[in-house]
Amino acid sequence: MNIRLALKKAADTLLPYIPACVACGVEKGVDGYLCPDCSKEMDALQAGQSETGGFPAFSAYEYRGLAAKLVQRYKYSDDKWLCAFMASAMAQACDISEADIICHVPLHDKRRISRGFDQAEELAKRLSELTGKPFLSALKRVRNTPTQTKLSAAERRENVAGAFESVCPVSGRILLVDDVLTTGATAAECAGVLLAAGAQSVVILTFARAMLE
Ligand SMILES: [Zn+2]
Repeated sequence: MNIRLALKKAADTLLPYIPACVACGVEKGVDGYLCPDCSKEMDALQAGQSETGGFPAFSAYEYRGLAAKLVQRYKYSDDKWLCAFMASAMAQACDISEADIICHVPLHDKRRISRGFDQAEELAKRLSELTGKPFLSALKRVRNTPTQTKLSAAERRENVAGAFESVCPVSGRILLVDDVLTTGATAAECAGVLLAAGAQSVVILTFARAMLE
Protein backbone atom coordinates (compact mmCIF):
# COMPACT_ATOMS: atom_id res chain seq x y z
CA MET A 1 0.00 0.00 0.00
CA ASN A 2 1.42 3.38 -0.84
CA ILE A 3 1.80 6.09 1.79
CA ARG A 4 -0.95 8.27 0.28
CA LEU A 5 -3.48 5.44 0.48
CA ALA A 6 -2.37 4.50 3.98
CA LEU A 7 -2.79 8.11 5.19
CA LYS A 8 -6.19 8.38 3.55
CA LYS A 9 -7.36 5.16 5.21
CA ALA A 10 -6.05 6.42 8.59
CA ALA A 11 -7.83 9.77 8.13
CA ASP A 12 -11.08 8.04 7.17
CA THR A 13 -10.90 5.96 10.37
CA LEU A 14 -10.03 8.85 12.71
CA LEU A 15 -12.37 11.51 11.34
CA PRO A 16 -16.03 10.58 11.11
CA TYR A 17 -17.46 11.39 7.71
CA ILE A 18 -20.01 14.21 7.76
CA PRO A 19 -21.35 14.70 4.26
CA ALA A 20 -21.29 18.38 3.25
CA CYS A 21 -21.76 19.84 -0.20
CA VAL A 22 -18.31 20.33 -1.76
CA ALA A 23 -19.54 23.47 -3.54
CA CYS A 24 -21.39 25.40 -0.79
CA GLY A 25 -20.73 23.53 2.47
CA VAL A 26 -24.42 22.89 3.25
CA GLU A 27 -24.97 19.55 5.03
CA LYS A 28 -28.68 19.11 4.35
CA GLY A 29 -29.74 16.63 1.71
CA VAL A 30 -26.25 15.95 0.41
CA ASP A 31 -26.24 12.90 -1.83
CA GLY A 32 -22.66 12.01 -2.70
CA TYR A 33 -20.80 15.29 -3.08
CA LEU A 34 -23.45 17.95 -3.74
CA CYS A 35 -26.53 19.45 -2.06
CA PRO A 36 -29.75 19.45 -4.13
CA ASP A 37 -29.33 23.11 -5.22
CA CYS A 38 -25.71 22.74 -6.36
CA SER A 39 -26.52 19.39 -7.92
CA LYS A 40 -29.23 21.05 -10.00
CA GLU A 41 -26.85 23.83 -11.04
CA MET A 42 -24.17 21.33 -12.05
CA ASP A 43 -26.66 19.15 -13.92
CA ALA A 44 -27.46 22.12 -16.15
CA LEU A 45 -23.75 22.37 -17.05
CA GLN A 46 -23.25 18.76 -18.17
CA ALA A 47 -21.05 18.67 -21.26
CA GLY A 48 -20.50 15.22 -22.79
CA GLN A 49 -18.48 14.30 -25.87
CA SER A 50 -16.67 16.56 -28.32
CA GLU A 51 -13.65 16.18 -30.57
CA THR A 52 -10.32 17.97 -30.71
CA GLY A 53 -7.50 17.56 -33.22
CA GLY A 54 -9.11 14.31 -34.42
CA PHE A 55 -9.26 12.84 -30.89
CA PRO A 56 -12.49 12.09 -29.03
CA ALA A 57 -12.76 14.35 -25.97
CA PHE A 58 -15.13 13.85 -23.05
CA SER A 59 -15.83 16.48 -20.41
CA ALA A 60 -18.01 16.25 -17.32
CA TYR A 61 -19.12 19.91 -17.40
CA GLU A 62 -19.02 23.12 -19.34
CA TYR A 63 -16.41 25.55 -18.00
CA ARG A 64 -18.71 28.22 -16.62
CA GLY A 65 -20.80 29.00 -13.56
CA LEU A 66 -20.30 26.74 -10.58
CA ALA A 67 -18.11 24.29 -12.55
CA ALA A 68 -15.62 27.07 -13.38
CA LYS A 69 -15.64 28.28 -9.76
CA LEU A 70 -14.83 24.77 -8.52
CA VAL A 71 -11.91 24.46 -10.97
CA GLN A 72 -10.53 27.82 -9.79
CA ARG A 73 -10.82 26.76 -6.14
CA TYR A 74 -9.15 23.43 -6.87
CA LYS A 75 -6.23 25.03 -8.68
CA TYR A 76 -5.60 28.20 -6.73
CA SER A 77 -6.83 27.64 -3.15
CA ASP A 78 -6.11 25.01 -0.52
CA ASP A 79 -9.24 23.06 -1.46
CA LYS A 80 -7.30 20.23 -3.09
CA TRP A 81 -9.81 17.72 -1.71
CA LEU A 82 -12.12 18.86 -4.54
CA CYS A 83 -10.06 16.42 -6.61
CA ALA A 84 -12.18 13.53 -5.28
CA PHE A 85 -15.43 15.09 -6.49
CA MET A 86 -13.95 16.15 -9.82
CA ALA A 87 -12.49 12.72 -10.56
CA SER A 88 -15.76 11.06 -9.61
CA ALA A 89 -17.67 13.31 -12.04
CA MET A 90 -15.08 12.59 -14.74
CA ALA A 91 -15.41 8.83 -14.21
CA GLN A 92 -19.10 9.17 -15.06
CA ALA A 93 -18.49 11.29 -18.17
CA CYS A 94 -16.69 8.59 -20.15
CA ASP A 95 -16.44 4.80 -20.33
CA ILE A 96 -13.03 4.30 -18.71
CA SER A 97 -13.29 0.50 -18.98
CA GLU A 98 -12.23 1.03 -22.62
CA ALA A 99 -8.84 2.44 -21.53
CA ASP A 100 -5.68 0.49 -20.68
CA ILE A 101 -3.63 3.28 -19.11
CA ILE A 102 -4.38 6.70 -17.59
CA CYS A 103 -1.96 9.55 -18.41
CA HIS A 104 -2.13 13.31 -17.81
CA VAL A 105 -1.22 16.61 -19.45
CA PRO A 106 1.69 17.65 -17.23
CA LEU A 107 2.64 21.12 -16.04
CA HIS A 108 6.20 22.26 -16.59
CA ASP A 109 8.36 21.44 -13.53
CA LYS A 110 8.78 25.15 -12.78
CA ARG A 111 5.04 25.77 -12.73
CA ARG A 112 4.34 22.60 -10.74
CA ILE A 113 6.83 23.68 -8.09
CA SER A 114 5.44 27.23 -7.87
CA ARG A 115 1.84 25.94 -7.71
CA GLY A 116 2.76 23.15 -5.29
CA PHE A 117 0.98 20.43 -7.24
CA ASP A 118 0.01 19.33 -10.73
CA GLN A 119 -3.77 19.51 -10.97
CA ALA A 120 -4.11 17.09 -13.89
CA GLU A 121 -1.74 14.55 -12.32
CA GLU A 122 -3.80 14.45 -9.11
CA LEU A 123 -7.02 13.96 -11.13
CA ALA A 124 -5.43 11.17 -13.17
CA LYS A 125 -4.15 9.41 -10.02
CA ARG A 126 -7.55 9.66 -8.39
CA LEU A 127 -9.21 8.25 -11.52
CA SER A 128 -6.70 5.42 -11.42
CA GLU A 129 -7.70 4.66 -7.80
CA LEU A 130 -11.39 4.81 -8.70
CA THR A 131 -11.17 2.57 -11.75
CA GLY A 132 -8.20 0.30 -11.05
CA LYS A 133 -6.63 1.35 -14.37
CA PRO A 134 -2.88 1.97 -14.09
CA PHE A 135 -1.59 5.55 -13.98
CA LEU A 136 1.52 6.31 -16.02
CA SER A 137 3.38 9.62 -16.01
CA ALA A 138 4.32 9.27 -19.68
CA LEU A 139 4.82 12.90 -20.71
CA LYS A 140 7.11 15.74 -19.76
CA ARG A 141 6.58 19.40 -20.55
CA VAL A 142 9.94 20.46 -21.96
CA ARG A 143 8.98 24.03 -22.71
CA ASN A 144 7.26 26.33 -20.23
CA THR A 145 4.83 27.89 -22.67
CA PRO A 146 3.46 31.37 -22.00
CA THR A 147 -0.11 31.59 -20.78
CA GLN A 148 -2.60 30.89 -23.56
CA THR A 149 -5.58 32.87 -22.35
CA LYS A 150 -5.25 35.63 -24.94
CA LEU A 151 -4.24 33.46 -27.91
CA SER A 152 -6.41 32.34 -30.82
CA ALA A 153 -6.84 28.64 -31.59
CA ALA A 154 -4.14 28.74 -34.30
CA GLU A 155 -1.75 30.61 -32.00
CA ARG A 156 -2.35 28.07 -29.26
CA ARG A 157 -1.46 25.18 -31.56
CA GLU A 158 1.77 26.95 -32.49
CA ASN A 159 2.41 27.83 -28.85
CA VAL A 160 2.34 24.19 -27.68
CA ALA A 161 4.01 22.57 -30.72
CA GLY A 162 7.03 20.63 -29.43
CA ALA A 163 6.27 21.58 -25.81
CA PHE A 164 5.89 17.93 -24.71
CA GLU A 165 8.03 14.80 -24.95
CA SER A 166 7.34 11.21 -23.98
CA VAL A 167 9.50 9.91 -21.14
CA CYS A 168 8.84 6.21 -21.77
CA PRO A 169 7.38 3.95 -24.46
CA VAL A 170 3.62 3.49 -24.16
CA SER A 171 1.17 0.99 -25.60
CA GLY A 172 -2.54 0.29 -25.65
CA ARG A 173 -5.47 2.63 -25.35
CA ILE A 174 -4.64 5.78 -23.40
CA LEU A 175 -7.02 7.96 -21.42
CA LEU A 176 -5.42 11.42 -21.34
CA VAL A 177 -6.57 13.54 -18.39
CA ASP A 178 -6.57 17.31 -17.91
CA ASP A 179 -8.60 19.70 -15.78
CA VAL A 180 -9.97 21.98 -18.51
CA LEU A 181 -10.20 21.65 -22.28
CA THR A 182 -10.10 25.07 -23.92
CA THR A 183 -9.30 24.98 -27.63
CA GLY A 184 -7.90 21.48 -27.16
CA ALA A 185 -4.53 22.46 -28.65
CA THR A 186 -2.54 21.29 -25.63
CA ALA A 187 -4.41 18.00 -25.23
CA ALA A 188 -4.17 17.26 -28.97
CA GLU A 189 -0.43 17.96 -28.93
CA CYS A 190 0.00 15.54 -25.99
CA ALA A 191 -2.19 12.93 -27.69
CA GLY A 192 0.01 13.14 -30.81
CA VAL A 193 3.15 12.62 -28.72
CA LEU A 194 1.56 9.57 -27.06
CA LEU A 195 0.68 8.06 -30.44
CA ALA A 196 4.26 8.62 -31.61
CA ALA A 197 5.47 6.89 -28.42
CA GLY A 198 3.45 3.75 -29.26
CA ALA A 199 -0.09 4.35 -28.04
CA GLN A 200 -2.77 2.51 -29.99
CA SER A 201 -5.35 5.25 -29.43
CA VAL A 202 -5.92 8.28 -27.22
CA VAL A 203 -9.15 9.54 -25.67
CA ILE A 204 -9.15 12.86 -23.82
CA LEU A 205 -11.06 13.34 -20.56
CA THR A 206 -11.37 16.65 -18.71
CA PHE A 207 -13.46 17.91 -15.83
CA ALA A 208 -14.62 20.96 -17.78
CA ARG A 209 -14.73 22.22 -21.34
CA ALA A 210 -14.67 25.86 -22.32
CA MET A 211 -17.22 26.64 -24.99
CA LEU A 212 -14.99 28.45 -27.45
CA GLU A 213 -15.56 28.86 -31.21
ZN1 LIG B 1 -24.34 23.03 -2.34
